[in-house]
Amino acid sequence: MNTAYLGLGSNLGNRLAFLRGGRDTLVNQPGIELIEASGVYETEAVGGPEGNPLFLNTVLKIQTSLEAKQLLKACLAVENEFGRSRPAIWAPRTLDIDILFYADQVICEKRLTIPHPRLQKRDFVLAPLMEIAPDFKHPLLGQTITELAAGSAGVAALTPLRTIW
Ligand code: ATP
Ligand code: CA
Ligand code: CA
Repeated sequence: MNTAYLGLGSNLGNRLAFLRGGRDTLVNQPGIELIEASGVYETEAVGGPEGNPLFLNTVLKIQTSLEAKQLLKACLAVENEFGRSRPAIWAPRTLDIDILFYADQVICEKRLTIPHPRLQKRDFVLAPLMEIAPDFKHPLLGQTITELAAGSAGVAALTPLRTIW
């Protein structure tokens, strides 16, 4: 069994329902167990088209018997189940599920990069990670989430919209 952290985001339709649906569908699969969920944060879209609607974001800590590649496959299948489409890069989406960390593995392949290469720049990932994994050390950067978040004024400014969801 390995511990992994998943970042979920939605900025289209009933956003909270998509986060809940994604969480529940994932953790009802064999080989995936939910350990902890952060709160849900409302954040501005980073990149993407002008007027991109606000996101809801959360992070899940799971335990899994799936290998990283199988976990990615499961995440993409759940996105599809909730109507995810990719009309353009960073377009609004019903549900996005990114693998942030998978144990302390470092993977650099065409379809799978772990740790997620942009997580350290994203307040909407660091703020929820601060709640549930402040001491987790980024296996490439060698800094803990607390250390990574300390560089960002935006993280401290973010408070969860909901703590229980
Ligand atoms: P970003 O990666 O900047 O958050 P995005 O989530 O909008 O952008 P997607 O269109 O959801 O990007 O994903 C495109 C592809 O990224 C996926 O099909 C998947 O193969 C690949 N990918 C690479 N690394 C990861 C990862 N750690 N987690 C999820 N997908 C990944
Ligand atoms: Ca993403
Ligand atoms: Ca994604």
